[in-house]
Amino acid sequence: MKKACCLFLLLFLPLRAQESESLEFLWRQAKGDVIQGKYLSALERYEEAVERVGFVPTEFCYYLAKALYKMHEITVADRVLSAYFLHTPEEDSLYLRASLLREEIKMGIDEIRNCKLCDSEGFRYIKHKDCGSMGYRLRPCLECDQSGELLCTACQGQGIWIRQNRLFQFVYQICPGCRGSLKQKCSACGGKTHTLIFCAECGGNGYLLTDHVCSHKEKITKQGIEN
Ligand SMILES: [Zn+2]
Ligand SMILES: [Zn+2]
Ligand SMILES: [Zn+2]
Ligand SMILES: [Zn+2]
Repeated sequence: MKKACCLFLLLFLPLRAQESESLEFLWRQAKGDVIQGKYLSALERYEEAVERVGFVPTEFCYYLAKALYKMHEITVADRVLSAYFLHTPEEDSLYLRASLLREEIKMGIDEIRNCKLCDSEGFRYIKHKDCGSMGYRLRPCLECDQSGELLCTACQGQGIWIRQNRLFQFVYQICPGCRGSLKQKCSACGGKTHTLIFCAECGGNGYLLTDHVCSHKEKITKQGIEN
C-alpha cells in the first residue's frame, strides 16, 4: 500500500507542479492584460484560471475587480474587491490603489442607484417604440369583429321575451337585457372594439435594455432615450 502511494506521488508531483506553474503563468498574463488596459482579454484568462482552480488568489482580486469595473460589471467588481479587502493587510502594495478603486466603484454604484434610465449594472434602457412604451399592444377584437357589440344573449337577438301567463295567453315583453336594441356590449372587449395584449417583446415593461453604458443624463431623441 505504502509503495503504491509513493509511486502515485512520484507520478503526480511533477505534473501538479507543472500545472500550478502554468496556472501561475495564466494569472500573471491576466494581470499584465489589466496593466495594459486589455480588460476583456484579462477577464477571459481569469475565467479560464478560475475554471481550473475554482478560486482567485487574493493578490489578483484587485486586478480582476479593475477589469470587471472597466468592462461595466460594477456589482461583481464590488464583490471581488470586497474579497480583496477581507484578506489583505493595509501594508499590501496594492492597498492604496484598491482603496481608490473602491471609491470609484462606490460612486458609480450610487450614480446607478439614483438613475432611472439604466439597470442595476448601469446599462441604458430604451423606450420600446413598437408598443409605444406602454408594455401592451392593442389587438382588434375578433369576438365582435371590431363592432364592440354582440347579439343579446338574453333574447337571442330577438329584442323581446315571449311568455305565457296563467291564462295561457302569450305575453310580449321588451328584452330587459338589451331594451329592445337586440345588441349587448361585447364581453370580450367591453365595447372598445379591441383588446389589450401583453407586449412579449419588452416583457410588458415598455422599455428594452440596451448594451449602451448609461451617462445618467436624460437626452431624448427620436429613437427614444439615448446617451
Ligand atoms: Zn336582448
Ligand atoms: Zn369585442
Ligand atoms: Zn413593448
Ligand atoms: Zn443611468
